Order: sequence, then C-alpha cells, then structure tokens
Amino acid sequence: MRCFAKAKINLALDVIGKRPDGYHDVRMIMQSVSLHDTLDLEICPEPGIHLCVSGGSTSGEDTEEQGTGLLTVVPSDEKNLVYRAAALLMDEFHIDKGITARLAKEIPVAAGMAGGSSDAAAALVGLNNLFGLGLSCRELMERGVKIGADVPYCIMGGTALAEGIGEVLTPLPKLPECFVLIGKPAVSVSTREAYENLDLSLLSERPDIDGMIRAIRAGDIQDVCRKMKNVFEPGIEKKHPVIGRIRRLMEENGALKAMMSGSGPTVFGIFDDRRTMEAAGERLSESGLAQTVLASETC
Ligand code: ATP
Repeated sequence: MRCFAKAKINLALDVIGKRPDGYHDVRMIMQSVSLHDTLDLEICPEPGIHLCVSGGSTSGEDTEEQGTGLLTVVPSDEKNLVYRAAALLMDEFHIDKGITARLAKEIPVAAGMAGGSSDAAAALVGLNNLFGLGLSCRELMERGVKIGADVPYCIMGGTALAEGIGEVLTPLPKLPECFVLIGKPAVSVSTREAYENLDLSLLSERPDIDGMIRAIRAGDIQDVCRKMKNVFEPGIEKKHPVIGRIRRLMEENGALKAMMSGSGPTVFGIFDDRRTMEAAGERLSESGLAQTVLASETC
C-alpha cells in the first residue's frame, strides 16, 4: 500500500500561552501542500516493524550551526514517528503479523513543515486500511495526538484552523489555486528553543487569525497574504538573518507574500502564477541562500 504524506505550511501562527503541562496553546491557520514523502507499507511474514528510510538530509549538510546537526537526521529505528504510529496500532489491535515500511523523504527535515507528523499520519491511515481496522478519521486523530500535536491535522489535511495544542481543528474552505515556493536555508532551529526564546511581550503585532479566516471564506488570496504572520519569525530571523534574505528575495521576485513556516527555518512564498514562481525559484537557487529549493502548490 502506497501512502503520500503531505507537508504543511502555516499561513498564520500565534502562540496564546503556556499551559501547566508544558505545552503551548496555539492558534494557527494550516495549509497542506503537494510536496510529500512516500510511505510504502506491506505485510510481511516476519513479526515486527521493519522500517527503511531513504532521502532526507544528514547532519553533514548543516553548515551554519555546527553541533545542532543531529536535528536533521531521520532515525530509522523506533524513534521514527512512522515506527511509533505503527507500533501504537499494532499493539492496540494485537497484530502479530509483521510490516515492512519504506519511507522516501522529500519534505525537508526539522524544517517547520511537519514532515515527521505527516509520516506518522500516513502510517496510521495506511495501517488502518491495510489491516481493515475500521477506525474512523476521528478515531485515527485521537490516536495521532498521542504521537504529536500536528498529527491530527496531518490526517485531515487541507486548509484548517488549529487550536488547543494544534489538535482542535476546524476545516476551512479550500484556498484559490496558488503556487508555493519553498526555500530551506542550511541552518537548524529546535522547536523547543523557539518556544523558550519566544517573548510575546516584545511583539508589536499579533496575527489577525479571525481576519484571515474571513479572507479565506471570501476566497481573497491577496487579503490572505496581507494577513500572513508568524510570531516565531522575528526572533528566529534575528538569529538567522538568512531567513529574511530568502523572504525578501521571494517578494522581490513576485511572491504575494513570503514567510517562515512553523518554528522555521523554512521560508515559503505564495504566488498566483506558476511561471513567476518558477523564475523566483531559479533566482533563489542561483543566490545560494537556500540549501533546498522546491516548487509546490496548495492542496
Ligand atoms: P514540525 O513542523 O511539526 O515542528 P518539523 O518539520 O520541524 O516538524 P520534522 O521533519 O518532523 O520536523 O523532524 C523533527 C525531528 O523528528 C527530526 O529531528 C527527526 O530526528 C525526528 N523524526 C522522527 N521521525 C521522523 C520522520 N519520519 N521524518 C522526519 N523526522 C523524523
């Protein structure tokens, strides 16, 4: 069984506050994009979970921040979120057959694009089908949140408001067709550190999430772009100025708006025209600012 695990971008990201359990309450507008990892699942005679991973960057590619390179290594053991998702369902349903899982990574790793969460979502959906477990989407989402706050959204996909720790989801209408240029610089950002360094009192402006929802409902992509904001961006960009340089390059080359996704460091630009996006992608590749440049679209 072949499953596609789509990446996400955050069109808006606000952090409401820290909860007693250490998690943060957030309000985010999530959007899935066509960029995806591919997960092939197969029942095999040998019991257990046999995972093999290809693609994905390695620590050796981290140039700017030595010492944080481990962040970008995709584990192929029980630490991989595909393994954890498979183990969760196989334990609960006492499945004694084995599975072989082949994961081909395309989504940049530790990049703010929910690659691992999306892989876990694909594994839950795939195993539910492969073993005929009969779980509904909601039941899969309830299990997914045990693996990660973004996993329920990754099961659902599309355009959505995410609240709570990210698991309280309200689907929104599909965006008008737009093209998304993705540029990941060769720096690592730890999500934990991004939260630790976030000082909301220093922010002059917070995202207008309700305004963005109105713009989405109206199908007004220009207004959606005007309202794009990510509370992590100023702090992370200060530490890694390359993020601002990629953002500006995209906007100087026709993006309606460019912004950092999640806790970074990936920058995405929204374009209303494919050719303009492709030309901007070429400029970005030539600039050497980004380690990875990918063309995608909202879906
Ligand atoms: P988010 O946007 O949800 O914060 P991210 O895109 O920043 O996530 P991921 O690509 O999901 O980050 O990777 C975060 C860490 O998770 C990596 O450092 C990696 O070691 C680990 N990991 C576990 N499973 C996977 C997987 N299937 N794909 C990628 N990384 C994984």
